[in-house]
Amino acid sequence: MAKILILTTGGTIASVQSPDGLIPSMTSEELMSFMPAVCGDIDLDILPLFHIDSTDMQPEHWMKILRAVRDNYEKYDGFVICHGTDTMAYTAAVLSYLIRDPDKPIVLTGAQKPIGFEITDAKSNLSDSILYAADPMSRGVQIVFAGKVIAGTRARKVRSMSYAAFASINLPEIAQINSGHIIRYLTDSAFCGKRGAAGGKDPARFCETLDPKVFLMKLTPGQMPELIPEIFRLYDAVLIESFGAGGIPDSLQKTLFAEMKKYRPEEKVIAVATQVTYEGSRLETYEVGRRIADSFQILEAKDMTLEAAMAKLMWILGEKGRSWEEIREMFYTPVARDILTGEQD
Ligand code: ASP
Repeated sequence: MAKILILTTGGTIASVQSPDGLIPSMTSEELMSFMPAVCGDIDLDILPLFHIDSTDMQPEHWMKILRAVRDNYEKYDGFVICHGTDTMAYTAAVLSYLIRDPDKPIVLTGAQKPIGFEITDAKSNLSDSILYAADPMSRGVQIVFAGKVIAGTRARKVRSMSYAAFASINLPEIAQINSGHIIRYLTDSAFCGKRGAAGGKDPARFCETLDPKVFLMKLTPGQMPELIPEIFRLYDAVLIESFGAGGIPDSLQKTLFAEMKKYRPEEKVIAVATQVTYEGSRLETYEVGRRIADSFQILEAKDMTLEAAMAKLMWILGEKGRSWEEIREMFYTPVARDILTGEQD
């Protein structure tokens, strides 16, 4: 019988209506009391971690989730983390980097409607997640939501109200779950393989260091450059959410480049991504992109999601003293299919 640990953190799934709006106040026992006995031959334990709207998710919460999985890793066959949808993609990405080569599934799920509502997606999401986590071929960090299984490094919240809240960006979905049946599309060793078999790799390793000082700087036409020196002062890395294939506007160039010249590339890591959801960046395409790519040692997110690029930088910079070469190599080395087009492209 598969043993699954359910970790609860709050979110809509565990929310109740209050005069001030939905609040995630349901206890984990109340949450599970809504679950019919769908999981007859699965042994479930529940571990409440906290009760927050995931808008309030902070790196300390990520560490609490990580330690709960680490401390219980040997005792269970799989994990289901009930989480608010708003920042679930960030948590999934962070856990994908901090838990390396897991041979067991670590599933994140939630709901767009609370489990206590008459019409809700919570019960199907939770039962799909438990079913998926109990399957002996499931492994790795994934989001199970609205019948889709999405790699933790590839998820993005794309709908704020309706049930299909998540999309898999620049990678097909790993699997679908229909009426209790798992249909697997991707069978890479990061997502699929017999439990306990490390596939020639070391068994799961847990990394507990993270540098949250990564700033996401979204470019907009007409933006003023005055804040840039302050961003450089406060943060260890800046992920520039550029336009289209990627480029730096003339209006920001002077200030941005002056700041970049003050530091070695490993002191202030600069990465360029795109605000376009699909297909990623290709900085060398336009002169506006070559401006930065040809003059500085920078990283490019390419087909990675913004959430994964942020989390990957936090993970890489979590260990101090890495050289620029190490940082670059780690950034472009695929983890759980987070990047398809490596440095060679
Ligand atoms: N605001 C909620 C949260 O992220 C939304 C949800 O769970 O769907 O916790």
